[in-house]
Amino acid sequence: MEYPDLDISDDQRDLRAAARRFAAQVLRPAGIEIDRLSAAAVVAPGSPLFRVTREAAALGYNRLGGVAEIGGLGLPPLTRYLVLEELGWGSVGITGSLFLASTHAEVALLSGNPTVIEEFALPYYACEDGSIVGCWAITEPDHGSDTLGAMRPELNVEATGQVVARRDGDYWVISGQKSAWVSNGPIATHAMLNVQLDPKGTMRDSGVCLLRLDLPGVTHGPALEKHGLRSLPQGELFFEDVRIPAHDMVLRADGYAAYMHNHLSAFNAGVGCIATGLARAAYECALDYCKERVQGGRPIFEHQSVRARLFRMFSLVQSCFALSRDAWVYNLTQIEQGRQARLELSIGSKVYCTQAALEVATLAVQLHGGNGMTKEYPAEMFLRDATALTIADGENAFLTQVAASLL
Ligand SMILES: Cc1cc2nc3c(=O)[nH]c(=O)nc-3n(C[C@H](O)[C@H](O)[C@H](O)COP(=O)(O)OP(=O)(O)OC[C@H]3O[C@@H](n4cnc5c(N)ncnc54)[C@H](O)[C@@H]3O)c2cc1C
Repeated sequence: MEYPDLDISDDQRDLRAAARRFAAQVLRPAGIEIDRLSAAAVVAPGSPLFRVTREAAALGYNRLGGVAEIGGLGLPPLTRYLVLEELGWGSVGITGSLFLASTHAEVALLSGNPTVIEEFALPYYACEDGSIVGCWAITEPDHGSDTLGAMRPELNVEATGQVVARRDGDYWVISGQKSAWVSNGPIATHAMLNVQLDPKGTMRDSGVCLLRLDLPGVTHGPALEKHGLRSLPQGELFFEDVRIPAHDMVLRADGYAAYMHNHLSAFNAGVGCIATGLARAAYECALDYCKERVQGGRPIFEHQSVRARLFRMFSLVQSCFALSRDAWVYNLTQIEQGRQARLELSIGSKVYCTQAALEVATLAVQLHGGNGMTKEYPAEMFLRDATALTIADGENAFLTQVAASLL
């Protein structure tokens, strides 16, 4: 399916075509293979996940941002969108893993602190084999939506965080547990970690630090066995008196709300983008099937009620493209130029595109009839993946509440 991009350059078209080939030839088959493995096998040595991320890293697909001088592809926001949407079409789980892998390095770059950049950003962008993997650890066993609510004072979230950092001279000492939902958790070498800074305060008194996950006192939980996005490994992180130098606490309570506003804007825009790829994948697989499956003496594509459903899917995909692209380009440009993003645009994109992907995937399963329930076709995997995306980076109903508070 071609979106009528009238305003992209030949270079952008070429990069998109290369991403499309990689998505079709490597990501889609690997995504299906990994979907069928146990969670433990996905993160075990020799897993196809590591082979694919190595190949993706060799092409720079885990370093789409980041300036070229340090090893990033340095792609502007629109080009990054075009590539990410294609990768999401191939496998939304593996693309999620690649997208999150650079989290700590991007935060380090934004910190502007040369020591932090040297410690976290330079090694990441110089690494071409995908062996450095970042994650964003914010959700806690007792605090999911609370963690996002805490960054919006008007939502009055009163909760005490389960990961606390206390100051000890030139160090911070971190203790507590993040939930099993940390994407890349079982395989991550580094983290962006949200911590409560005042043990007697609330989650509103939070900060953000960067750290290596091989420090003494850090333990990874097992990979979570789950319904959808099975090619995106997730698992807990435990911290027991983990000491980090004070400069690695890149954000303290005073700048927390403003920083997290932009961070969530970038991540929600990213989910909108890969959800668009997933919606397109579900639409295209249904279209192909409807042209082949014969009932009533002709391909079901020729029945009017089938065409009406395909057109509904087509129009949802088209609207996802337009919305997610605009939200991504606008907000990523704002953030990279040091300005405040419009979080409500990114939440609008995330909520709309994931709900649309869920509807498109549901229709895709129905158009496959009984075959939609089988592993012979990817439609049922798309449906499970779409369901997971409605909760990732904030459950949709809660995000809607956050966005509504900004209007
Ligand atoms: C695929 C996937 C990827 C993820 N990746 C990451 C990651 O990389 N890092 C990470 O740290 N976390 C990650 N998460 C966790 C995710 O951010 C949380 O699951 C999400 O924020 C919801 O939190 P919860 O699961 O605790 O649900 P809860 O917060 O317990 O919500 C349950 C229900 O209650 C509702 N609710 C909650 N609070 C309120 C309120 N104040 N008012 C009204 N309704 C409310 C919600 O809308 C929801 O319907 C991921 C989750 C998924 C599914």
